[in-house]
Amino acid sequence: MSAPDDQARVPNAQDARRANIAALYQELILDHYRRPRNRGNLEHPDISLRKKNPLCGDVIDLQLQFDGDTLRDVRFTGEGCAISQASASMLTQRLKGRTRAEAAEILDRFTRMVHGEEGAADESLGDLRALSGVARLPVRHPCALLAWDILAEALVSRP
Ligand code: ZN
Repeated sequence: MSAPDDQARVPNAQDARRANIAALYQELILDHYRRPRNRGNLEHPDISLRKKNPLCGDVIDLQLQFDGDTLRDVRFTGEGCAISQASASMLTQRLKGRTRAEAAEILDRFTRMVHGEEGAADESLGDLRALSGVARLPVRHPCALLAWDILAEALVSRP
């Protein structure tokens, strides 16, 4: 007797859970947009690169300071949409203190998530999963990936 009720409830519970997660992710993006982490200029960056996303008008200037193989400090400045700025803020938070190999791994996983190849299930991405919804919005991919494209260039250009 309880079976039909359970079946009726399950999809609703899943929908509610999905809606909660979407709201949580949205909140996280807006929080990084309003209170960006590691925003500003480094005094002596090893690498300082600037890129634009002309489709949306986003600009990011990413600055990296290495200590041997480790990213000792990462900062950014820029302007643009909430997705581009939140993504840059999350990048700096996530990559500070990581090795180059770890940074390359996170870069790869994040890029695959944005392209929808990874799904939202890659738990190793942590808070970065807040941007997983962008996978369904190809026009916003350049916004989400702007800071990460700079990181990719920096990791290659660093001798
Ligand atoms: Zn944008």
